Amino acid sequence: MTHVSHLIVGAGITGLATAAFLGRQRDYLILEGDQEIGGYCKTVTRDGFTWDYSGHFFHFKHPEIEAWLRQRMPGQEIRTVNKRSFIAYAGRMIDFPFQKNIHQLPGDEFVECLHDLYFARTGDGPPAVESNFKEMLYARYGRGIAEKFLIPYNEKLYACDLATLDRDAMGRFFPHADLPSIIRNMRTPDNASYNATFTYPRGGAIQYVNALASEVPPERIALGEALVEIDLAGKTARTTKRRIHFDRLISSAPFPHLMRMTGLDHDRGAFTWNKVLVLNLGFDRKGARDVHWVYYPDRARSFYRIGYYDNIFESDRLSLYVELGLASDAAVDVDAARQRVLGDLRAAGVITDHQLVAHHAVVMNPAYVHITRDSMAEVARLRRVLAGHGVYSIGRYGAWTYCSIEDNIVEARELAATLTASP
Ligand SMILES: Cc1cc2nc3c(=O)[nH]c(=O)nc-3n(C[C@H](O)[C@H](O)[C@H](O)COP(=O)(O)OP(=O)(O)OC[C@H]3O[C@@H](n4cnc5c(N)ncnc54)[C@H](O)[C@@H]3O)c2cc1C
Repeated sequence: MTHVSHLIVGAGITGLATAAFLGRQRDYLILEGDQEIGGYCKTVTRDGFTWDYSGHFFHFKHPEIEAWLRQRMPGQEIRTVNKRSFIAYAGRMIDFPFQKNIHQLPGDEFVECLHDLYFARTGDGPPAVESNFKEMLYARYGRGIAEKFLIPYNEKLYACDLATLDRDAMGRFFPHADLPSIIRNMRTPDNASYNATFTYPRGGAIQYVNALASEVPPERIALGEALVEIDLAGKTARTTKRRIHFDRLISSAPFPHLMRMTGLDHDRGAFTWNKVLVLNLGFDRKGARDVHWVYYPDRARSFYRIGYYDNIFESDRLSLYVELGLASDAAVDVDAARQRVLGDLRAAGVITDHQLVAHHAVVMNPAYVHITRDSMAEVARLRRVLAGHGVYSIGRYGAWTYCSIEDNIVEARELAATLTASP
């Protein structure tokens, strides 16, 4: 039987970052079920278009991480862009976030939103309960804002009843705004949020993956070899090809899948998620300029968001990603979805007589995990049990959370530091 000190599951951002920070001198092996590295950060090129698995734009809060990556991307042009994002509402484009830009709504709807917002915040009674995500939206923003944007948009995205989600299900990714900042924004716009600027490499998201992979010898990545089962007591992994004895196992596989592989007793019902069908579409000529992505709360449109790749490097043909949120068990007919999306794009005025010249589709499953009280409690409890066996589940899906690639790198760096400190 093969023995390895650190067995890493997944060659996405998290697995590669773990290996890179463990360092070449450590004994590790990465198992990757797919034939290619990158996980959800893969890039496809087709007919001159460069597309990611979904709109992957990057927001770095840790300058040293961004610098570390850039040092490993020689010759790669990376743009830092001031984002232009909007909400398509009532035939107009409202600046994002909706709750800070209600003054851009038609007059009667502005009054309705402002009235409901004011009394939600300053009403006479006791503070409204915020025991779940949906209640939080009503309690903090009032009925108008909640029902015109926050609820329909997030229902399209998460494909679930928002009352099942934890109040903080979106963490720092939810652009909270208090009453003074909303009123102030009517005169002095300040729509900065966690992603006021973003960076993007000309070669697509995979360039960041390649930067991490440059620190990992290719022979230490076993492509096309998936983890199937873990014997926690015996510290043995069964893969699709062999058995491997390990001292530690670091997994970035989706947490519910890992749990099934360990055979540990757990509450399966605590884990639900959505999937996202991403349609990348290339057209024969340019569309709108000066826009990077647009949110669509209108339930009549099949997509919840679209993004314009061609406005990052100002290329001359419209290049879109289109995202549709679906229940994890929903049937997907990609051709039918593409036809419906093209009709919706025409109805929304995104395309007119544009000709589709290239396309690509991918289903991300899981895409957004449903963060609930039960899921958080189960993940915390089970990760403690796993750690007692030298098994660490990290990453967006390993930790069953909502985060960015930078968060993945930070978490991997911290775990690698802990592991190398205690050999
Ligand atoms: C719609 C969408 C948009 C996003 N946009 C952004 C964005 O703009 N900016 C940003 O920073 N982040 C974005 N993200 C988040 C980003 O994609 C993730 O944080 C990141 O890709 C997660 O990397 P990971 O390595 O943890 O997981 P993954 O990318 O899922 O990698 C896990 C790897 O493990 C492999 N694997 C799974 N099971 C096994 C097994 N049993 N055996 C062997 N291998 C296995 C998989 O094949 C995969 O390669 C977005 C996510 C989604 C869903």
